[in-house]
Amino acid sequence: MLLRHTPSRIIERKAVTINPAKTCQPIGAMYAALGVHGCLPHSHGSQGCCAYHRSTLTRHYKEPILAATSSFTEGASVFGGQANLLQAFNNIFTVYDPDVIAVHTTCLSETIGDDLPQIRKKALKEGKIPEGKYVMCASTPSYVGSHVTGFSAMVKAMTEFSQSTGKRNGKVNILPGWVEPADMEEIKRILSLMGIDAIVMPDTSGVLNTPLTGRFSMFPRGGTTMEEIKATGDAIATVALGRWCSEEAALALDKMHQVPCNVIDMPFGLKATDRFIDTLRSVAGVSVPEAIDVERGQLVDMISDMHQWVYHKKVALAGDPDQLISMTEFLVSIDMWPTHIVTGTPGKKFEKRIREICAELPYEVNVKAKGDLFLLHQWIKNGPVDLLISNTYGKYIARDEDIPLVRWGFPILDRQGHQYFPTVGYRGGLRLLEKILSALLDRKDRDDDEVQFELVI
Ligand code: SF4
Repeated sequence: MLLRHTPSRIIERKAVTINPAKTCQPIGAMYAALGVHGCLPHSHGSQGCCAYHRSTLTRHYKEPILAATSSFTEGASVFGGQANLLQAFNNIFTVYDPDVIAVHTTCLSETIGDDLPQIRKKALKEGKIPEGKYVMCASTPSYVGSHVTGFSAMVKAMTEFSQSTGKRNGKVNILPGWVEPADMEEIKRILSLMGIDAIVMPDTSGVLNTPLTGRFSMFPRGGTTMEEIKATGDAIATVALGRWCSEEAALALDKMHQVPCNVIDMPFGLKATDRFIDTLRSVAGVSVPEAIDVERGQLVDMISDMHQWVYHKKVALAGDPDQLISMTEFLVSIDMWPTHIVTGTPGKKFEKRIREICAELPYEVNVKAKGDLFLLHQWIKNGPVDLLISNTYGKYIARDEDIPLVRWGFPILDRQGHQYFPTVGYRGGLRLLEKILSALLDRKDRDDDEVQFELVI
């Protein structure tokens, strides 16, 4: 009973968040920056912020996350961090020699009003950014938004380096949003099956799911190169996955270089993957290969084989908006009943979209943007569910209410596999379904009496 103080009586709260369903903006900015080849993320603030961001990413990805910090002390906190950042550019380019430094702000540097583009301008003027090296800047104060908006801000910062030669290069920009490195790999596999020449930006595959070789590499082989980022301005189209994670960057490319943008849901589950494949087909002018049809058929087969075990099972969900929208749609499509849904990221459009997806269900779904896990727990106390899908923090609710838990989303601090097994696409749908079924059937095996206990299911 770790959360024994959670009462079932719900009182309207405005001024306090309890057990947040989000984390801070710079963590998203740092994750996005790691998807640029040869990039060292830099946290413009105190050492404590940077240590927290790095450790959260390290605990989720089980890889050492390297990042620099402006190391604010009392002086910088009062007079501004410009001198620290200029010194940092010198040190980092001299000692570590990255291709890019991706700087994001923190609560402190934003509050004192540090202006990153102005500091970058000064650094360029003073020759502190060597020829052929780059500095990206994203504003990510954590008293607004969430890790999702921080991710979006850094991806938008990448588009500042896009260039247009006036001649289209035939490539499609794919903005994958905050998905796992394994998901980015899976998206690239699908693109290759469809014969589409694409630029995936950012791309953390080959950075945060690298093999153990016994050799340390400061900048792993993966990541979107600066040449690719520049070339996004000449692409024939942008396919942006997830409104929260990728829309701003897609709109920026459209505005700057007239690259037509298609903002669609992240391809989790059957229907969202159908739309992803169809969008790729239409923007790239290709046909869908048989191999993709086969994968779709396999997912449909598994859904129909196992339908009886998921039918009308009630589900509570917590996570990030882009993921939750596609997951909710997937659950509804296989006749499960999403019942309580919470994201910590702000955005009323989220609540509207979830209500639309759940419109045909025979009850009104509980949904809240900028909500917290405390509220989710209260909803569950008042309306019990058969399954909880959330990041690791959901384990406290799962334990207290004795509900099976499927870990999905960010962060997952107490299990492995998310870096290696994708959940996007039809193959990813198989993985999601397998996780959901295993959780439900393990619970059935645990609870069945001896007469009902079955060998064959
Ligand atoms: S919430 Fe603000 S102060 Fe706290 S770690 Fe994040 S950026 Fe730093």
